[in-house]
Formats: sequence, C-alpha cells, structure tokens
Amino acid sequence: MTQAVQLYRSHVLFLSQSFFIKDNRAELLLHAHKYDFDILFFDDVSRFVEAVAGDNGDNLYVIDLDALHNMQADMPDGRRTLMLGELLQRLPADHSYVYLQSARQGSRFLLQQRLVDSHCLAYAEKPIANDVFVDKLFNLFVQKKRGDLVRMVVLGEAGLDEDWLLQRRVEVLRHADAYTLHLRVKELQPDLVLVTDTEYRRTDAIVRVLQKNIEADPVREIALLQCRPDLALSRRALADGFDAVLAAGEPGLLEAQLLSRANKIRINKDLIGKDRATGLLNKVGLQKKAQDLIRRAAHEGCPLALGVIDIDKFKTINDTWGHYFGDIVIKRLSLTLAPQMGESDLLSRFGGEEFVMVFWNCDLEQGRRRIDALRQAFCAIPFEVAPGDLRHFSFSGGVACYPEYRSENELFLRADAMLYVAKQSGRNRICAEETGRQCALAR
Ligand code: GH3
Ligand code: MG
Ligand code: MG
Repeated sequence: MTQAVQLYRSHVLFLSQSFFIKDNRAELLLHAHKYDFDILFFDDVSRFVEAVAGDNGDNLYVIDLDALHNMQADMPDGRRTLMLGELLQRLPADHSYVYLQSARQGSRFLLQQRLVDSHCLAYAEKPIANDVFVDKLFNLFVQKKRGDLVRMVVLGEAGLDEDWLLQRRVEVLRHADAYTLHLRVKELQPDLVLVTDTEYRRTDAIVRVLQKNIEADPVREIALLQCRPDLALSRRALADGFDAVLAAGEPGLLEAQLLSRANKIRINKDLIGKDRATGLLNKVGLQKKAQDLIRRAAHEGCPLALGVIDIDKFKTINDTWGHYFGDIVIKRLSLTLAPQMGESDLLSRFGGEEFVMVFWNCDLEQGRRRIDALRQAFCAIPFEVAPGDLRHFSFSGGVACYPEYRSENELFLRADAMLYVAKQSGRNRICAEETGRQCALAR
C-alpha cells in the first residue's frame, strides 16, 4: 500500500535498539500515523547522526538510551557499548533531542542533569505505553510549530513593544474607551485582554461586564496591568474576575510575560480546536472560526459557501480492508482537500470520514463547482488495496450559502440536508438544491 506522496506531515527520527521498542514497532507506528507523523527507526549511531545533521529541524529526534548497549560494530575498537558522553558528543549541537531512559537512569540526579543540559527537548521514562508516548511527542510537535496568531486587546496606555510581540505571533489591538470595550471584544474575539490600573480604577465594572457574558470565551484571559504597586487594588481585581495581575516593570519584562501566556493559550487552543490525525480544525475549532468568518462576511457584504462531504460506503472500506486502511483513505482525502483551500477558507475534519469546508467570497454555484472539482480529484486517486489491485473511492457532498442561510448552524443543517439528497440520489455527487436537479452527476 505504498503511495507516491508523502502521507505524514512530520517525522520522528528514532535511535533505538531495545526489544521494548522493536516488539512494539508496528503498534507504535499505528499510533503515530493517527497523529500525522511517521517514525524512521535507526539502530546505528552514525547513520542517525547523519540523518539528524541533514534534517531541516522540523522533525523530532528521539534517542532510546538503551541503544548505547549492544551497538552495531560502530566503534573502531570493536566495543559494543557506547558511553553516554561519547553519544552526547557525537550529536549535532544545533538540534535538540528527546531522551528515553530507564527508571534507574532517571533516579540518578547527576545523570539526569547531564541529560537535560545536553540539548534536551524533553525526556521520558520507560516503560511508557505507546499511545501515551505518541501523545506526548505530538504535544512537542504542537509546541514546535509556528502557530496561529494570538490576538490581544489592550485598554489604556500600556506602552508595549508591539513590533516585538507581532514578530512572535501576538497581535496587539489598542482600545481607548472603557464603555465600548465589551463591544470590541465581542467583535474581535481576542484571546487576551489587558486593562491598565488607571482604566480599572476609573471603571471597575469593565471586567464584570466582560466575564459575566454567557457567551464569553472561557479560555480568554483578562489581565490587569499594574503600573504602580497597590496590593488592595490587586486583591479587588482578582475578586472582580481578572485572571491575573501583571506588573509593568523593566522594559521587555511585561512583553516576555505576555508572550509566555500567549504561547500557552495557543497550545491549548490547538489541543482543543484541532484534529490530531489530520491537523485540520475539528468541530469545536470550526465553529468558532466559521462564526468569525460569517461576521466578517456580514461586515464586508461577501457571500460564503459551506460544504459538507462524506466518504461513500466507508463502512464497506473498513470492513473489507481494515480500519487502518480506512484511516489512510481519510488521510489521503485530507491531503487532497487542504492544498485547494484559499487563505481565508476553512477546512475541518468534522467527524470520522466527514469534512466541512467554508469558502470565502463564494456563491452557491461556485461552491458546488469547487467541491465537485475536489470530488473528481479524490475519485482519480488509485488506492492499492493489495499488490496490483487498484481501487478508487468517492465522496458525496452538500452545499449551502450565506447570506441565504445566516448562521453557522443553519448553513450546516442545510448543507447536511443536501448531502442527504446526494446520498439518496446515488452518491458520488454534490448537491446544492433540494430538488436534486442541480446535482453534479457521477462521472
Ligand atoms: P454512506 O455512503 O451512506 O456514507 O455509507 P457509509 O458506510 O460511509 O456510512 P457512514 O458514513 O454512516 O459510516 C461511517 C463509518 O466510518 C462508521 C465508522 O465505523 C467509521 N469511522 C468513523 N470514524 C473513523 C475513523 O477515524 N477511522 C476509520 N477507519 N473509520 C471510521
Ligand atoms: Mg459518515
Ligand atoms: Mg460515509
């Protein structure tokens, strides 16, 4: 079932020799593929070092310290055990590593210290279940990538180095009027709100108005910026609903604190709002972004097309060639869809083999055509289910359009009803009208 395209977004280069890992190789890979990465195993230090040195740094490098024992004839003096110091010296210093160690190694503080000080990204202790290990590696990938912009609204004069923050993917939007802050927050849906102590002293209801809104984003952080120390004010602010009190101090210190909070927020948002196996938005992530896009469309007077697609007869695919093969079909579909999305479009893995897309500035017929082109591209992919046995699969879809349907929920329900029509009228087609007359007929 080897396919010509690269199936997984990232790789783990894994130096391992232990039976623990070897016995579990297949299962470990299975978990990794669910999370959109592949694992390349090395049992030779030189080849591992060579591969790491030639890598662009986007991947993860894992070393099972048991690999130190029983090395291949890698050393000139014929020794089979490599000393830890020798290994650390050989590793390219411009990369960092995940060390997998035994509990005994972990109990020795000085050894532990030596490891964490040797280009260590993280360490893990064996035994560790494959699914847990893969999940932790996934978190490291999330932390490594550039990530979405974190948006912060600031009320009052905070004197922030906005360029420095923007370079680090934190966008600062200043607001001057306490009485309209809640409206600006509603419009912009920021991840962070910073209120100066001067503004809070003047209008202490600000934070309550923001926090008590039933639709307020529970993940949003609202912080008080204290320009001069006032313990009583800090206490009152926390009791009033501020999440944190930050002190304005040395230049750069506040920005560094804000950045650290923004990075945490970004990681949490990714974990909550994205599908791990494909890296696309999940249902939660889509909902928020679709609502933002609808607001923007209303503001700019643009149409939007929302499409729902679902792979045809997927149960049969699973039953005939296995769940694992089914997962690969889902992955290939996501890789077919993703490159065709525009900058402002949204793509989500909504459920198992169901995807939702929202096209910016696109009417019903254009939307139907775009999804139909995707349908044809997916149908053209040959899947080798057994050596020499090539199969093609299809999906059906339904489309609905804003402003005809106004909310994200209405758009989805309408598109889903159209998907049902497409399934009923024979599958492998995209429907945009209830009568089914506008269905793109199967090839
Ligand atoms: P239809 O053409 O009517 O859509 O038929 P279908 O067989 O595709 O029916 P349906 O969409 O209801 O079935 C979806 C199946 O997908 C059910 C479930 O077992 C399977 N599934 C859901 N999530 C996953 C997943 O992540 N991986 C795999 N391999 N299968 C999944
Ligand atoms: Mg389905
Ligand atoms: Mg289906």
